[in-house]
Amino acid sequence: MLCAMPSAPSSPPSAQKLAVIGDPIAHSLSPALQNFLIRHFALPFTYEALQIRQNELSEMIQRLRDGEFRGINITLPHKQTVLPFLNELEVTAEKIGAANTIVAEAGRLIGYNTDACGFSRSLETAGVLIANKKAFVLGAGGAARAVIFALLQANAGQIIVCNRNAARAATLIAAFANHTTANQLQNAPWLERADWIKKNEVHLLINTTRVGMHPYEAESPLPDHAFSAPMAVIDLVYNPVQTKFLRMANSAGAKIVNGLGMLIYQGVAALELWSRERLDLNPIYKKLENELSGASTFNSRTTAFSD
Ligand code: NAP
Repeated sequence: MLCAMPSAPSSPPSAQKLAVIGDPIAHSLSPALQNFLIRHFALPFTYEALQIRQNELSEMIQRLRDGEFRGINITLPHKQTVLPFLNELEVTAEKIGAANTIVAEAGRLIGYNTDACGFSRSLETAGVLIANKKAFVLGAGGAARAVIFALLQANAGQIIVCNRNAARAATLIAAFANHTTANQLQNAPWLERADWIKKNEVHLLINTTRVGMHPYEAESPLPDHAFSAPMAVIDLVYNPVQTKFLRMANSAGAKIVNGLGMLIYQGVAALELWSRERLDLNPIYKKLENELSGASTFNSRTTAFSD
């Protein structure tokens, strides 16, 4: 799946500030990632992390509209609540119903979603195939929507959504009704998730919940008996890089994919939108992955490294 192309430059971007907003935000590796990329590609930007609570979102949006920032990344819990503030939604973000990137163009705010292409590219890099596979998705938040969109784009077989809040899963399934074949997208009860996975042949098991994310590293959204060898197990959580969920899957012999690849690919796609340049990640991908693994600690947002 291709990431959105940068639009043709009409004039060079004037504002040079970029940021990621969320609550919490201290876990985010986006500043470490983006500042590495900004330095490597010699782009005229600065990038910072801002803790923005729900009641501060409209004020933040106004700062963006006023031209203080070229753009922002949006992380939990704002990916869906930010939509009513935007002037325009790129088609992928519209279909997903969540935005993780905003570009400010002369006071107009355009929302994009680079999570879906980031997820697809990370699985491609890890050699995990999606077509015709049965996927079990834990979670129904903004990230789950991007993952399900990417799975559908790549012709996954059946997709089972399982969320603690069942009503949220049902809303997500209804939102994708026009993009799926009959019964392609189904709901599984949260309390029976481990048994459901054991009884059914699941090929791709994907955690899109925040369970296991710092400071709750001791938690996993599944017990160890849910995992088995033929599965590919993917965790979107990237801080810590090796979550308890992935460690248990690894012990069961499953192929595991951590959240760093998706983070890197969604991040470079966002930077391409802000800079309007195509950026070749291939020569630096491995180094970047190693550096981010090292930076994956609670204080990651203040971690700096150079290329
Ligand atoms: P979100 O919209 O706030 O959704 C959070 C999800 O986690 C919901 O499904 C929520 O379930 C579930 N959840 C939270 N606490 C839980 C608990 N104690 N037990 C069970 N479920 C719980 O957040 P998001 O934007 O989707 O992000 C989710 C995770 O994905 C975060 O860890 C984020 O860092 C990660 N992520 C990673 C990347 C990457 O590039 N690697 C990209 C995007 C997101 P309820 O609906 O029941 O509350």
